[in-house]
Amino acid sequence: MKRAIITKLDENHFEYMANEMEKYYDPFSFLFIGPTGYYVRQISDKFSEKLGKTINRDAFRVINQYVVETLKLNNMDTVFFDRDFFKAFIASQIEEYIKNEKDDEYLEFLRTVSRSKGILNYILELFEKAWEIKVSSGDFLTPYYYEINQLLEKNEKISKLILNLLNDTSLIMQKSGNIFDQITTYKWYVEEYFEEKKKNLVLSGFFDIPPILKDVFKKMFKNFENVYFYVWEQINDRAFNQLNDIYNFLKSEGFKIEETIPHTLKLKDKTKVTSYKNSIVEIYEITGKIKELLINGKSPNEIAIVVPNFSIAKQFSEKLTEIGIPNNVNLQSKLSESKIVKILLQPIKTIYYNFETEDLLALIESPYIDTRQLTIEKIEKFFREFRMLDEKFSKEKIQEISAHIKQLEEIKDDDTYQDRMEKIEEYKVFIEILENLLNLLEEVKNGITNDFITWFIEFIKFSIEKFDIFTNDKYLFEIKEEKNALIKFIEVLNNLKSYNLKINSWRTFYKILTSIINVEKYRFSERKENAIDIFDITQARFVRKKFKFFVNFTDAFYPNFDINPLILNVLSDPNKLRSFNEEIERRNVILSLIFSENNHISFPHSTLSGEPILPSTYATEFGEVKDIETSFYIIPQASKIYSEFDKNLYKAFNEERKLKLNVEWKSSLNVKKVSHSLISTYVNCPFKLFLSEKANVRNIDSDKSNLYIGIFYHRVLKRYFEEVVFELKKLVEEVYDEVFIEEFFQYSIPKSINIENYTKKLNEFLMHLHENVESKNIYQLEKTYMTKLRGNILAEARIDRIDKDKDSYTIIDYKKNSKNSDMGQLLLYDYIFKSNINKDFETTLLFLGIEDRKSYKIKRIKEKIYYNYYKSEKEIDYDIYLSWLDSILEKLTSGDITPIFVEQNNVKPFMMYLKDMGFKIQSKKRFCKSYAVSCHFYEICKNFEIYNNVKLVEK
Ligand code: SF4
Repeated sequence: MKRAIITKLDENHFEYMANEMEKYYDPFSFLFIGPTGYYVRQISDKFSEKLGKTINRDAFRVINQYVVETLKLNNMDTVFFDRDFFKAFIASQIEEYIKNEKDDEYLEFLRTVSRSKGILNYILELFEKAWEIKVSSGDFLTPYYYEINQLLEKNEKISKLILNLLNDTSLIMQKSGNIFDQITTYKWYVEEYFEEKKKNLVLSGFFDIPPILKDVFKKMFKNFENVYFYVWEQINDRAFNQLNDIYNFLKSEGFKIEETIPHTLKLKDKTKVTSYKNSIVEIYEITGKIKELLINGKSPNEIAIVVPNFSIAKQFSEKLTEIGIPNNVNLQSKLSESKIVKILLQPIKTIYYNFETEDLLALIESPYIDTRQLTIEKIEKFFREFRMLDEKFSKEKIQEISAHIKQLEEIKDDDTYQDRMEKIEEYKVFIEILENLLNLLEEVKNGITNDFITWFIEFIKFSIEKFDIFTNDKYLFEIKEEKNALIKFIEVLNNLKSYNLKINSWRTFYKILTSIINVEKYRFSERKENAIDIFDITQARFVRKKFKFFVNFTDAFYPNFDINPLILNVLSDPNKLRSFNEEIERRNVILSLIFSENNHISFPHSTLSGEPILPSTYATEFGEVKDIETSFYIIPQASKIYSEFDKNLYKAFNEERKLKLNVEWKSSLNVKKVSHSLISTYVNCPFKLFLSEKANVRNIDSDKSNLYIGIFYHRVLKRYFEEVVFELKKLVEEVYDEVFIEEFFQYSIPKSINIENYTKKLNEFLMHLHENVESKNIYQLEKTYMTKLRGNILAEARIDRIDKDKDSYTIIDYKKNSKNSDMGQLLLYDYIFKSNINKDFETTLLFLGIEDRKSYKIKRIKEKIYYNYYKSEKEIDYDIYLSWLDSILEKLTSGDITPIFVEQNNVKPFMMYLKDMGFKIQSKKRFCKSYAVSCHFYEICKNFEIYNNVKLVEK
């Protein structure tokens, strides 16, 4: 008996089918066949629940799975090739065709195909459909199959490729009688399988039946006494046009079908459409609604979120996890997007593409090489410095860098010592990195030429054991996604190995592998019980839920016109296929809406930067736009706070204002020796001294050029006066070579320009010096003096020049520019020098600007300090300076590190101290950031602004 039963398309379908099963179910002579795993599982679960006991799950099958299992049961030695095999097979055949092709035009096409990312998926799709047409006997073809059939008859390059692949596949299948794929398995079932007659066959859920399946069904109909085909009612919508084909097929097979009036869809009653300001608000509001449903007693597995792609799925999953809701992301991500897969392939990629700089840097940044001591920016700088960007990467480079280190080590003295030592240390680390890199590449080069796949699997095992992130349990949560990718990647490699493709070249293997990972996917996370499901529209269509949230429902995604470009390009009327594709997309949306009691469609109406976004046309067609919600952007309202994180944010920014920084700014700085620069850093911001000296925070990319220029000027002036040299340019050349050792400064053009420039500036400065310094008796040049302060603190001053005139001295400090002159520096020099001379004298204290040729002068005569304020001379007691110095040293030694953004910061530069005491003096304010200039630690301190009472000092 053959019966067609017309079934309503509504949310009670699964319930209804479970009830129907009671009529036919017998564990030993019953079979239920459905179109997808989700569909079949829901009916069997509901039926088992209804029956109240365990059922024979093998009696509930998805059609393709049933046929394959039947083949395997009846032919134990069968080898079954799944889609993975065909991915590898097609990728390797393309490489094979490239090797042997003589026609230039076709060869170029094959090369383009071989290079294109993700194209394998499209070829595979065409190949599978073409293979199905070739193998099946059906004469009616649906539009997509029809177009592919037409394509194969055309004189197109893609047609030639598909036909060649079909021929080669047939040859493999013929040569070995026991190799099957999905299509040939169907063919075997139709032509060779003999089955004892069983009693009841129930089929349901099909919206279309491809040609080969019709053959399979025909055979099944013969093998059962009773066949019950539950066919969907006719629907008055273009999305269900293909139901006509099923009705015709059933009629031709002798099923009686009642004539009914096509049903009209009513989705608006249960579908609400909401738009949100942007995607951030949408995520927040939708996950908030879900939280409320759970609080009100709904169970997580009654709810699903339907997303258009993997990245949106991830964003929703992260927010759900943050607010403590278990969730399953059912979408999959491409293996080529996994970080660990990229890292594992990076050494081979580097060799394949002949050591491109970006590949070398990617390898250095990967866990294969320990780069923690140098930033990747620094390494890139060294690549440039040693011309490794344009020259071939080789061992000789290491010798070149070693020679450079030797050069630096040979320089005698002096004030660049510290800097040179740091540089040498960095170069040495750089050499170490390059050596490790070369060893790794050498090892890989030797390995890949053997049995590539076997070697690569071993190499992965060995590498993973060395990657801390994979072996340390504390990262378990962070790497769970990457672990899934790794497992899938190994599975791909093992499959590839088992196919025994006759390939000798590692390059071909690498290309095949990169093609496969561009289409192969992995699961984001393990499945959890009783969790919110996140689906795409194809997965969601057959899943019944109480609540479905369709998010990011914009016209960019629904309908999705992702049609195989290989076929679209060669069609005479592409619109026909587009509209066929739209019907499928539309059907998926409708089905997904039908199998749910409450639908929430939402979309952001603008991007984060404010550009408008349009909703999908389906949104207004199937739903009722109830309201336009625009709410908060960053800080939610109190009633909408669902996570600890948001709670803290709310508290920090709203009424309670509890987040106050309340620390005692103390640290054991343990300073034993001071200089002007240390005191100056401290008085400008004690916290800055703490960060650089105690916390050892380094500004890795600080520009040292000003430091070098300063050293250069000082050294030239010292020798100039010391040796009474008259040819200044010669001296400039000599000192330039000593100080500017970096490659760039030594190129002939910048070098000659710089020498001219510096000679001119120094000449002008010498005239300026003679105008400002009355005395001609040089007493000391570049001399270091020391003394003790507050009993045991060693104070040091390196004075550029001291002139002596009877009982008075002139202390001179050269500055590149005199605009930042600090009276405190000159007075410290005077104090230390005075302590060394051991008798009182008058001092003129002078800053001379080399480049701006300006000067700043003060005088100390006995216990008074004289300075200029605009056009008048002012005086202060010397004791004021001494007590300021004493108080600063006391704070320094007591470990006071109060930053300048704290109101009660009592440490001040001397000139600011005087101004605050009421003296008329020009003093500058201190800033963490003023215009474009920032303190090096600005980004660190900016984080303190999370506290309500902190605001950095900005101009
Ligand atoms: S950013 Fe401001 S508070 Fe922080 S160290 Fe620099 S100057 Fe001091």
